[in-house]
Amino acid sequence: MAESVIDLRSDTVTKPSPEMRRAMAEAEVGDDVFIEDPTVNRLQERASDIFRREAALFVPSGTMGNLTCILAQTRPGQEVICEEAGHIYNYEMASMSAVAGVLPRLVKGEDGILTWETISKAIRPKIYYRPQTALISLENTHNMAGGTVYPTKIAHEICDNAHDAGISVHLDGARIFNAATYLGEDVAEMTKKFDSIQFCLSKGLGAPVGSMIVGSRDFIERCRSIRKMLGGGMRQAGVLAAAGLVALDKGPNRLHVDHENAKFLANQLASTAGININAAKVQTNIVIFDVRDSGWSSGDVLKALEQRHVLAVPVDNHKIRMVTHLDVDRNDVERAAQTVKEVFQR
Ligand SMILES: *Cc1c(COP(=O)(O)O)cnc(C)c1O
Repeated sequence: MAESVIDLRSDTVTKPSPEMRRAMAEAEVGDDVFIEDPTVNRLQERASDIFRREAALFVPSGTMGNLTCILAQTRPGQEVICEEAGHIYNYEMASMSAVAGVLPRLVKGEDGILTWETISKAIRPKIYYRPQTALISLENTHNMAGGTVYPTKIAHEICDNAHDAGISVHLDGARIFNAATYLGEDVAEMTKKFDSIQFCLSKGLGAPVGSMIVGSRDFIERCRSIRKMLGGGMRQAGVLAAAGLVALDKGPNRLHVDHENAKFLANQLASTAGININAAKVQTNIVIFDVRDSGWSSGDVLKALEQRHVLAVPVDNHKIRMVTHLDVDRNDVERAAQTVKEVFQR
């Protein structure tokens, strides 16, 4: 029997389920630039309901969602505080600088998690010849720190203090439902103090395309214009929104399975000679491990894994990331762990 590929590169690799395909085929559509696509409108209402906010906007990607929120809340020459390993700084083509004209101000968090104490030191004094801090961006879960979760109290504290200082707070919540699953909390309650929220439908929730921005009606209307400026005004986007509705309906309730699989994988990796990982720190669906002690580079390991039909991505020269998702089950994860053990036994 030919071995199928186990793709742990990202939770973005999932294919739309038969139920999603059906919903897409049957979606009622209209021109969303005229705000006349009933399915897009329904998706936006659903997202704003779930987050108990006034409004939401469907955008083609998380990257565009983050950039749109930055453009809506900053002016060129201002600063945005973000975590140094954050997605917004490292994986979005420096769009905040190239397009929005703002300067990222990097702060290091413990396992990617910032606190008001660390952030407050990076806030600029209000002096007319100094750049001004306009926005703070938090990432929950934190991707490159290994899917780590903000304790809600810490996120609330940051928002409260930022608002007292006249600074807005954006949430890059690409995987906010993973964070909610880990905490056993409600996303609306967790995110209620943020000025803007971006979350991905296309990751653990399983949709083929798309992200949502959530916020006040006023804010979302500004974002609608900015989305158009960026080329993100889509026409009969209801075929995509239909998949998004299924993702929102069915996705969150099964994320605990991905987390259990990630934990299992992390424990298996931890017992493999040559690999360093603190499995106790794996909270959600992202597993990052260090292969330095094996004498192999991450590229070498990834090549050997690929030959054995297991795919992952490098974080750097020594670290590898594996992500669990709805298209890999416990069997696949067991096989992946076994394959890693084989590679390291050589
Ligand atoms: C994937 C991701 C994004 C961007 O989403 P795309 O849809 O790939 O543009 C933003 N932030 C984080 C933390 C992500 O993991």
